[in-house]
Amino acid sequence: MTTEPAQAATSPKPVTCGNAFAALGPQFYTDLRPTPLPVPYWVGRSKPLARELGLDPEWLDSDRALQALSGNQLLPGSRPLASVYSGHQFGQWAGQLGDGRAILLGDIASPDGRSHELQLKGAGKTPYSRMGDGRAVLRSSIREFLCSEAMHGLGIPTTRALAVTGSNAAVRREELETAAVVTRVAPSFLRFGHFEHFSYAGDTDSLRLLADHTIDRFYPECRAQDRFGGNPYAALLEAVSERTARLLAQWQSVGFCHGVMNTDNMSMLGLTIDYGPFQFLDAFVPGHICNHSDNQGRYAFNRQPNIAYWNLFCLGQALLPLIGEQELALAALESYKTLFPAALQQRMGTKLGLADPQEEHRTLVDGIFKLLAADRVDYTIFWHRLTRETAGTGTEPVRDLFLDRPGFDAWAQAHRAALADVPPQEAVTLMQRNNPKFVLRNHLGEQAIRKAKEGDFAEVATLLELLQSPFDSHPAHETHAGFPPDWAAGIEISCSS
Ligand code: AMP
Ligand code: MG
Repeated sequence: MTTEPAQAATSPKPVTCGNAFAALGPQFYTDLRPTPLPVPYWVGRSKPLARELGLDPEWLDSDRALQALSGNQLLPGSRPLASVYSGHQFGQWAGQLGDGRAILLGDIASPDGRSHELQLKGAGKTPYSRMGDGRAVLRSSIREFLCSEAMHGLGIPTTRALAVTGSNAAVRREELETAAVVTRVAPSFLRFGHFEHFSYAGDTDSLRLLADHTIDRFYPECRAQDRFGGNPYAALLEAVSERTARLLAQWQSVGFCHGVMNTDNMSMLGLTIDYGPFQFLDAFVPGHICNHSDNQGRYAFNRQPNIAYWNLFCLGQALLPLIGEQELALAALESYKTLFPAALQQRMGTKLGLADPQEEHRTLVDGIFKLLAADRVDYTIFWHRLTRETAGTGTEPVRDLFLDRPGFDAWAQAHRAALADVPPQEAVTLMQRNNPKFVLRNHLGEQAIRKAKEGDFAEVATLLELLQSPFDSHPAHETHAGFPPDWAAGIEISCSS
């Protein structure tokens, strides 16, 4: 009999933090510790993210990690804080907001030398909680955890999620629910609203400190002299506009509806951030409103690109004291208007199997959007079936998805004609890499949440695995790629989380 020392399992390499954000100065945050989460348990863990971060895999199995990621123990070197920001909510200036329930633990370096901030969402009240309780409920935490990793799996820039822990501690929303904490990971959680906060307060010194911090860490190329006559703040606005344009093109191409595109939910790094009442389209309904609280449809699916521009305009306004001239700010914003349509065309081209979309391909894209909308065709299933049919492996005809069969047949003929110039395997590979089989549909999240409420987290793990490689076939999970059940249309997701 051999006796292995238990040492390795019980004392994995600890995670040590720094906190570069803290060096900005006290006007940007309040130091405070997370509020402990009573008797926590694991709900979900992303081992692939742990590996990317260079964490000891055994650490994420340890009680030390469970306690640290629930806010019950501090990581070595951590200097926890909550940051202050403001923002425009539903088109209105909302004044001061801030991390009302998120606590930045600090940053860690991954083996490739990149720095990542760790943030606990739902870790208790902060000075910016306003009327809130500082907590997040299990259902919204599972949705954020899964969607963060799903977006990454789709190749869409996003904040990541390392883990969710839960507790039986009660949280009151419309009804009594239980508390959970999501560990979010991103190079930075800076939002447009951070800049609006100091700009509206007339505190140009702090605004400049924040902009310099952002440029030095994330946009050093903005200091190049050839851009905007050496005005780094105009260059920053342009760079954020470009990243936002690319992000929105990706959202629209995959059918992602964010639901609450307030300026405090817009990332300075062009990441998808703050997953609330988001939804992946089932049927293709361009005006779909996923947020049950959005009565006016301000954040309807097809309005997202314009809203992003509106939000960038707010950022431009906030940066104006640094940029100096209004014309420069407007010129910097201009990039969004040209880049977004070009990026969307590029994305839609790849879904069609066309790496190099030409002007004449625009009619193909417009044509399929019209047909999909007219028959409310399931968006993800359409693209996946089209991919399989193009590859010659289809078993269910794409045309069966349409009521307007002649309309679809004419479109399909035009699509085949466009593909005639492309080597077939190239087109198929491109389509397979850009048309996912699995997206986090509302009903899939809902099924995982229902089981999790009963203490069964297996479906959270299954979904995580599928969504982290959504272009793979995962043949044992065909039902996860099927049409939504009838009850899916009745799921109401609001801002309550
Ligand atoms: P959201 O619409 O989720 O982006 O939230 C807007 C603001 O409200 C942010 O500053 C959040 O931190 C804050 N907030 C939302 N829910 C809570 C809560 N339960 N407790 C404290 N603050 C919250
Ligand atoms: Mg938010």
